Formats: sequence, structure tokens, C-alpha cells
Amino acid sequence: MKTPAALPWILWMASASCSAQTLVIGLYDYSDLSAKETAHLTETADLVFAHSGIRVVWRHCRGALAVTSGITCEGEMQVNEIVMRLQPGGPRGSHDGSMGHTFVTAEGGYYASVFVPSVRAQTAGFRIAFDLLMGYVVAHEVGHCLLGPGHSYAGLMRGTWDRKDASEMSRISLHLTKQEARKAVARLTLAESAAQR
Ligand SMILES: [Zn+2]
Repeated sequence: MKTPAALPWILWMASASCSAQTLVIGLYDYSDLSAKETAHLTETADLVFAHSGIRVVWRHCRGALAVTSGITCEGEMQVNEIVMRLQPGGPRGSHDGSMGHTFVTAEGGYYASVFVPSVRAQTAGFRIAFDLLMGYVVAHEVGHCLLGPGHSYAGLMRGTWDRKDASEMSRISLHLTKQEARKAVARLTLAESAAQR
């Protein structure tokens, strides 16, 4: 049954679901990925975060797409911006095959690295495309920037992925949990409102 009171509620719901938070990622590729690989990995990460109500804006600061984008990466970072470096080597002093690293406190962080050779090595074990796994590893490290150092038992923020996770990746159905998504959106909202003050 329709009541007059239902309409404002519906409008409120519509406006709440449209107000996606924006996250800016400054991408510095030191690993010489092709333009196609870069485009695919960013598209993958876009889809993963779109599911959580987060819109990603990429600033191609270094690498194949930086040349053509004409974007300048100088100047101050925005409050909702993080730096993502794609490294041609592994983590320094570590041989655990770790695919990425983020400098984080309990609140999160702003600087993340992905170790491209480790991702490439893992691709065969998971039997998925390199640029797909790259997109997920980038998204996982971005997740640490938004959520802090912790890992979860399911989804994008698991500490170690297995074949089952990889098959979810190939369907783009591995995401943040609902709780993590809420926390990530809240963090971006807070940063934005602090910046406007
Ligand atoms: Zn992690």
C-alpha cells in the first residue's frame, strides 16, 4: 500500500545510494607495464570498489598511460588521495613472495606498493590473467590504506588468497565485506568533510 509518507523516504534512499565517495589513486608504474595491462588492472580495481560505493579516479603519474594522460602529479596530495607504486622488484629483505605492502597505522595509510614479479609468479598458480590479479592486489593494498593493517576471513581483504578466491576474481565477485565497505566509505566521507572545514 502506498502512503504519502513513503515518497520522502524513497527520495532519501535514492540520494543516499547515489552519493558515491571518490578515491583518488596516484599511480606510479616503475615496472613498465603496457598501456593495455595498466588499463585492465585499473578497470578491475574500479569494479571492485564500485561494488562498495567508491568511485576511483586514477592519476597516471608514471608509466605507459602517464605519457598520454597529460595529468600533472605535482603539488599537494588531496585528502582522499593515495599513492600506489608498481615495483619491478620484490619486497626488500623478504623472500616470502608477498605481493604488496602498505605503510599503515590503525587508521589507514597513503602509500602502497605492489611487487609486480611476485604477482606475475602467482598468476600461474591461480590460473587467472596477470592484469586481473594485478587489479585485485592493487585493490587489496588500497583496502589497507582505507581500513588499516588487519585482514579478514573472507573476500578482498583475506591475508592469503586461494584458488577459490581466484575463481571469484575471474567473475569479479571478490569484494570488501559489507562491514569493510561501510568503514571505507565512512573514512572517505570523514576526510572529505574535514577538508571542507
Ligand atoms: Zn594485506
